This record gives sequence, structure tokens and C-alpha cells, in this order.
Amino acid sequence: MQQHDATSTPPSSAQFSEAALRIESNRLWPPERPLEKPARTGLFANVIRQFDRAADLLNLDRSVRKILSHTMNELTIHFPVRMDDGRIEMFTGYRVQHNNALGPFKGGLRFHPSVDLDEVRALAAWMTWKTAVARIPFGGAKGGIQMDPSRYSHSELERITRRFTFALGDNIGPEYDIPAPDVNTNAQIMAWILDTYLSFKPPQERQRCTHVVTGKPIESGGSLGREKATGQGVVFLIEHWARDNRLDLVNCTFTVQGFGNVGSWAARLLARHGAKLRAVQDVTGSIANPDGIDAEDLAAYVRRRGGVSGYTRARPIDADQFFATPADIFIPAAMESQITLETAPLLQVRLVAEGANGPTDADGDAILEQRGIQVLPDILCNAGGVVVSYFEWLQNKRSEFWELDEVDAKLRRKMSTAYEQVRSTVQRYRIDWRTAAYVVALTQLELVYKERGIFP
Ligand code: NAD
Repeated sequence: MQQHDATSTPPSSAQFSEAALRIESNRLWPPERPLEKPARTGLFANVIRQFDRAADLLNLDRSVRKILSHTMNELTIHFPVRMDDGRIEMFTGYRVQHNNALGPFKGGLRFHPSVDLDEVRALAAWMTWKTAVARIPFGGAKGGIQMDPSRYSHSELERITRRFTFALGDNIGPEYDIPAPDVNTNAQIMAWILDTYLSFKPPQERQRCTHVVTGKPIESGGSLGREKATGQGVVFLIEHWARDNRLDLVNCTFTVQGFGNVGSWAARLLARHGAKLRAVQDVTGSIANPDGIDAEDLAAYVRRRGGVSGYTRARPIDADQFFATPADIFIPAAMESQITLETAPLLQVRLVAEGANGPTDADGDAILEQRGIQVLPDILCNAGGVVVSYFEWLQNKRSEFWELDEVDAKLRRKMSTAYEQVRSTVQRYRIDWRTAAYVVALTQLELVYKERGIFP
């Protein structure tokens, strides 16, 4: 782990790729100190368990297995920011780059109290598998700041974001590592990152660097369709699954956990098919209405009030009642490890469509499988966001601006291809969808390592 105080010079990308090379080449340096073993508990351990299952099945090349079960680069930054009242507060931010065999590192930035190295490692690895499943030329990374953004003013948030971006320095870059929005970050935060990053480039280079972040506001180089892209991708996959499983979306019911970007868009778009939203949970509480909740109206309420609590067109319920609400589909779109030993037995649904990253832990997975509840796994189901981020990146590089119907049509094609590939892997190996999605990703990564070899 690299420790780095923002008052010192940020590590250069040369130092960073030096570290990457050491790991990529799988040589131990210094030779007597072995690579740190992945922790046996925690979120990254869960990723490794999922990875091992597919790697065993595939009999994945031993060297490739070693490489992919470690992250490449891990940056921890402690940095000071001046608050509105003049005080200085210290923050801790992270950027973990898991793998770039298929293209530049890519992954969101999260502002949340739970952000730590273990969480960011796991999220970075999931990005590597996701971009491989979606067949886009990116690797996997993730980052964030350990903080509760609701405690800070708009101008404090701006200074925190800009100072973190400054400290990241050239460890991000339009052809090297490209952040995007995630939990508690949005287009505004991306605009601050863009502006700060460009401010440290010579004026002649700035126009060539706008693709250093995706999920930007449209006027600042963002793409139409990016804001809804993850929820849209979830709904495209549900359409496929419903066709395959003879579920009529017009008369079906669903529940959603998390009513932010992913959850609210998935709910609004699924409701347009006629599906009925029965219950919603977010960080402020849980609500239900057996006759249906108007997703558009609830989204407007959440924009005004910050959460679903107090919404009068549904009744408040407790967390267990939320999980036990009967429906055809459950869309978790909040945080990791929500479907567990305790909550998985409560679910009364046919399908879990994972909008969130890592919402189901290993126990949860085993229980869902036992109970015959199917899962569209995160690395397939929520890939719509990074796919449209890729479209945004391409538009910036080519100085193009695509119409919404073009973005949507291209997203639909990408999601359909990924779905069909994972489905045929499920049928071929007679395995669950999560393992099948890993098999698709790992097959591609193994091929690339075999073609290129391992330097030197
Ligand atoms: P967001 O900040 O817009 O929304 C998060 C939602 O989760 C909020 O409604 C919040 O109240 C709720 N929440 C937080 N903690 C909760 C808890 N303990 N219990 C219940 N609800 C809780 O974030 P988002 O961008 O919608 O991301 C949600 C999930 O989707 C994350 O796992 C993220 O990594 C994943 N994801 C996001 C994108 C994207 O494009 N934004 C892409 C792929 C995956």
C-alpha cells in the first residue's frame, strides 16, 4: 500500500506503473518479501471466492490466476481541506487499480463513510470483470473518500473534491484511469474533477483531456443517456430474462432497495412497461403500497426531501417486512452485502436483478440458489453505466455528440450480447449466472495474457 500525504508531491505515473510492472510480471520485489495475501474476510475475500469458483471450473492458467487475484496499484491519500468556518479537516481517499490488460483503468468514485481499502479493492476487481463481460476496452479501478457528504456544504464538497483530484495528480488520466460517478457522487462532482484536472494541464492540451472523467454534465462533454444508463441496462436485462422465463412485465411486481441514481431510474423505466412497484427501501427507511407506488412521483419526492421516509402515498414498514414483500423481481440498488444469511430467507421473489455492486454475499448466494431464486449478477446486470461511460469517452475523443436514440440502441445491443453470452455459458456448463459471468470475463482475460505473455 502506498501511503501518501497530499502536502508531498503526488506519486508520478512512472512510479505507479513501475509498481504495476512489478506485480504484472509476477516477480516478487524485493524477492524475500512475498506479495501481500488477500484478506480472508471482508468484501475482497468475497470477490476472491466468486473468482475461485469460476477459475476452478475453467482450470484457469495458474499465472493468470495469481495476477488477477491481486490488485495492481493501491493509492491511499490523506489530505487537508479548509471548512467554511475556517477549520482544517483531514480526509482519507483511495484509488485502487485492479487490472488494465483490456484497456485503461475505469471505475467510479464513491463518497461514503464505509469506504475503505477492502471495499475499494473489491469494487475495483468487479469493474475488471464487468468491462470484460460487456466487451468494452477498459480495465477495472475504483476509488472514493471515506466521508458522509450530507455533513458538508456545497462549497466544502467542492473543495474536498478538488483537493482529492489534485492529490490524485497523474494517477488518473484520459488514456490511463478514468473515474465516474458512484454512490453519493454525480455529474456536478465530475465537473469539478474535470476542471481541476484540466487546470494542471497546459492550455494546448486541455481540449484533448475532457475524457478524463465520464458521467459529466452534458454541457461539459457528458453523453445523453449516461445518467439513466445503469438503470436502463438493468431494465434491458430484465426484459430478456422475462422473455426467457415467460414473465409478463405488464402485470409483474417489483421491489427496489436504494432510490438514488440506479434504483430510481430502474424503477421508473420498469414502471413504463406497466410493472407495479410494491416496496422501496433507502437509507431513510422502508415504504410499501400493495396497490403500487408511482415511481416518477416518488423520484420527485426523493429529489426534494432526500429520501423515501415520510412519503404519504405509501405506508412505512420495517426492514424485515421490506425484504419479505412478495413480488416477481427484487432490484437491490444500494450498498454491498444486503442479501445475507439473515435476509435471503425472507425474499419472496423469482428474480434478483443486481443494480448494486456486491449486494449478495456468499451466504446469500447459497440460500438464493437453494431456494431457486435466480440472480442476474452485478457484473452483468449493472454494466449499462460503464457501457455508456465508454460511449461518452469515445464521443469526447472523436469530438462527436450522439443523439439519445443512438446511445440507447447501442446500449441495448451491448447488453443483449452480454446477456446472450452469459446465458449460453450457463447452459453449457450448467452453472449459476454469477459463475457464468465470471467464466465469460476470465476466458477473455486469460486469452489476452496468453497472447501477450508476461514481461519479461
Ligand atoms: P446513489 O448515491 O445515487 O444512491 C444510493 C442509494 O442507496 C440511496 O437511495 C441511498 O439512500 C441508498 N442507501 C444507502 N445506504 C443504504 C442502506 N444501508 N440501506 C438501504 N439503502 C441505502 O448511488 P447509485 O449511483 O445509485 O449507486 C447504487 C449502487 O449501484 C452502488 O452499489 C453502486 O456501486 C452501483 N452502481 C452504480 C452505477 C452508476 O452509474 N451510478 C453503475 C454501476 C453500479
